[in-house]
Amino acid sequence: MNRVNSPIKRRPTRQIHVGKVAVGGDAPVSVQTMTNTRTEDIESTSAQILAAAKAGADIVRVSIPTMEAAEAFREIRKRSPVPLVTDIHFDYRIALRVAEYGADCLRINPGNIGREDRIKAVIDAAREHGIPIRIGVNGGSLEKDLLEKYGEPTPEALVESAMRHVAYLEKYDFPDFKVSVKASNVFTAVDAYRLLSKKIEQPLHLGITEAGGLLTGTVKSSVGLGMLLYEGIGDTIRVSLSADPVEEVKVGFEILKSLGIRSRGINFISCPTCSRREYDVIGVVSELEKRLSDISVPVDVAIIGCVVNGPGECETAEIGLAGARGKSGYYENGQRIDRIDNSCLVDELEQRIRAYAGNKARRLAAENA
Ligand code: SF4
Repeated sequence: MNRVNSPIKRRPTRQIHVGKVAVGGDAPVSVQTMTNTRTEDIESTSAQILAAAKAGADIVRVSIPTMEAAEAFREIRKRSPVPLVTDIHFDYRIALRVAEYGADCLRINPGNIGREDRIKAVIDAAREHGIPIRIGVNGGSLEKDLLEKYGEPTPEALVESAMRHVAYLEKYDFPDFKVSVKASNVFTAVDAYRLLSKKIEQPLHLGITEAGGLLTGTVKSSVGLGMLLYEGIGDTIRVSLSADPVEEVKVGFEILKSLGIRSRGINFISCPTCSRREYDVIGVVSELEKRLSDISVPVDVAIIGCVVNGPGECETAEIGLAGARGKSGYYENGQRIDRIDNSCLVDELEQRIRAYAGNKARRLAAENA
């Protein structure tokens, strides 16, 4: 049962592969995050990658500011369960080094590398190792001449910058790339991606850059990415938050879930509560969110405070709880099958949701076998 029937028709794009993850074409929209440890610190960086992967990240980006970081990356790559994009600025030798060490994608803007033979060397290395390139244009680091021409980082300026970098890849006949044109202003970013989507067939990496903290960044990213994804634009997303990368992954999935593009883990449908509530809805939902965060199989769970909206929501969810005095109605697949004492809701629900998710995971695995 899927509560969101998505009307979204995705823009057809050329498919590329970031390690084992397909991006573009008919591949699911992937969720990325980026480490914020010092890359030279192998232990912390690897731990952060693992935590992001556990939260569902399809791809993780790691910045490689120094040759020392490039050396550390060799070990970090070995330990990572997910493909890694290496983020490099200016120094082409770092790009060559990490390509050798197993980078799954190079994020580097060809136009910033400098000499033509160096640009060609990076493109040749990507080709030789079979890895794509991501061009990443950012409103905060636009070329001076474009800022002079447009006065500020306008959507047109971002796209012109992106197309300059694209021109290098086209010149050397390297079509396996994706592009981002990020801005911290939602309208600028959205219009830039719209413009760019009409110019190239390559996949687009969406993001609102420097979006803010957990709350403000989540809202800005949801609005900006939501608009684009609804229009079918976007093949991979990164929510940028001044917060733990795990939060970026969670928010990324919630955006995709709310648009019916992808599903992962428990999709809670819960009421805000009011004086009619028959139990502590907020407490139950927050505790279940924590306890069930390891579940990856998608399950719609309605947790509703009373009979006003309870039965209706529970009948369209896979699991539901409709609040009632003393004992609340428990639903599975739209049918009320039991009543649970309001004094032990969290433990009972955790156990039942886990059992349901386990059965569903086994069923899905058998169907896909
Ligand atoms: Fe209030 Fe019931 Fe609505 Fe929840 S479902 S907000 S408890 S009326």
